[in-house]
Amino acid sequence: SVVVVGSVNLDAVTVCERFPRPGETVTGRSVTFGQGGKGANQARSAARAGGATVFVGAVGEDAAAVTVLDSLAAAGVDVTRVARVQGSTGFANVTVDASGENHIVVVPGANAEVLVDDGARQAIAAADVLLLQLEIPLATVVDAARTAREAGTVVLLNPSPVQDLPDELVDLLDGVIVNRDEAHALAEAVRRVPQVVTTLGGDGARASGPDGEVATPGFAVRVVDTTGAGDAFAGALAANWHLPPAERLRRANAAGALTATGAGAAAAPSAAEIDAFLAVQ
Ligand code: ADP
Repeated sequence: SVVVVGSVNLDAVTVCERFPRPGETVTGRSVTFGQGGKGANQARSAARAGGATVFVGAVGEDAAAVTVLDSLAAAGVDVTRVARVQGSTGFANVTVDASGENHIVVVPGANAEVLVDDGARQAIAAADVLLLQLEIPLATVVDAARTAREAGTVVLLNPSPVQDLPDELVDLLDGVIVNRDEAHALAEAVRRVPQVVTTLGGDGARASGPDGEVATPGFAVRVVDTTGAGDAFAGALAANWHLPPAERLRRANAAGALTATGAGAAAAPSAAEIDAFLAVQ
């Protein structure tokens, strides 16, 4: 099984003809609400891709909490380890204009309060793989990684949003999942991690580890929106970690490519959809 310790947001996406100027009000065309946050997106993808998945995070005491937890549960994610804390659920307010340009305000809210409590510790110890990102406090990321290491659970980090990694954390990692920018920015730290998976956008992905290097070329798909493709890739990779490196890389690449064909970050393909896609490649 997979445990994701990370962030969850309610995303509100408003589409308008043009952005309002300061003090001005404009009439929008549409608004949609969805579950976001890298942690929750990756948990959703892992569950959809076939792995029993537990999400460890925190939500606030508001209506947004219900929306995001229902959405995760509907994707098959175990949300029983999510804490309820005072204040607001994480929130991303996205405004998109007719040209596709966006303005985004993110309020971390409860994501700033995520801790590894006893329940989370048990879930991490019982899991095969722990998948982490950097949208929660770094101390919690390190705590989760150490808990996993002590229990023999594989520790994977997607270092996003990119920031310097303390040596203490790097030394606890079994693998990193980085895009080209992260690979470049964190080159020194990445060199010290046993398994390095690099996503290459439309060019697919490659992985290097003790057993050598494998690559999976990009799938030619009709791209609608690549938002969330990296999260879908990471979740599917974690869910398929038990497979040989070339196999899990190919399935993660399919999950990323399929996500790029749909609008919105929260979509992630099921194991059956990945099978069907790969069967015709
Ligand atoms: P991020 O979105 O995190 O920057 P990438 O751009 O490397 O990461 O994309 C992550 C994964 O999503 C890729 O490895 C691939 O599987 C898939 N993907 C992204 N863009 C495309 C694309 N244009 N065509 C096919 N697959 C894509």
